[in-house]
Amino acid sequence: MAGEPQADCLFCKIVAGGIPATVVRRTERTLAFRDIKPQAPTHVLVVPHAHYPNAAELAAAEPQVAAELLTEAAAVAADEGIEAYRLIFNTGAGAGQTVFHAHVHVLGGRPLREGMV
Ligand code: 5GP
Ligand code: ZN
Repeated sequence: MAGEPQADCLFCKIVAGGIPATVVRRTERTLAFRDIKPQAPTHVLVVPHAHYPNAAELAAAEPQVAAELLTEAAAVAADEGIEAYRLIFNTGAGAGQTVFHAHVHVLGGRPLREGMV
C-alpha cells in the first residue's frame, strides 16, 4: 500500500529508530534529523514517516503532509536561529537524489551562493 514502510529504505529505518540519527524535531507525521554529511553549518533533512519515493508523490497522495515538510523546515530554521535558508528537493537520480524516500534538505547558517545550484 502507498506510504507503507519499505524494508530496504534507509529513511524508513531512521523513522523506525532502527538506524540512529541526530533528531532535531519530530511530529506525528514528520521527522527532522541532521544530514550525516553536512553541506552547510545547518543541514537538516525533513522526511515524512510515510514512505513515498519523492516529494511529488507524497504531495499527490498526502498533500497535508507535504505541506508539513515546509512548516517543519521553517521550524528547524527558527530553532537554529537562521533567518535565511534554502530548501532542496532532489527528485530523480539525475538531480542527485540518492535516497528514494521523500525528503527536503534545509541548508543554512552561512551565506548561500545566489542561484539554484
Ligand atoms: P539526496 O541526495 O537523496 O537528496 O539526499 C540524501 C541525503 O541523505 C544526503 O545528503 C546524505 O548525506 C544523507 N544521508 C545518507 N545516509 C545517511 C544516514 O545514514 N544518516 C543521515 N543522517 N543522513 C544520511
Ligand atoms: Zn522509506
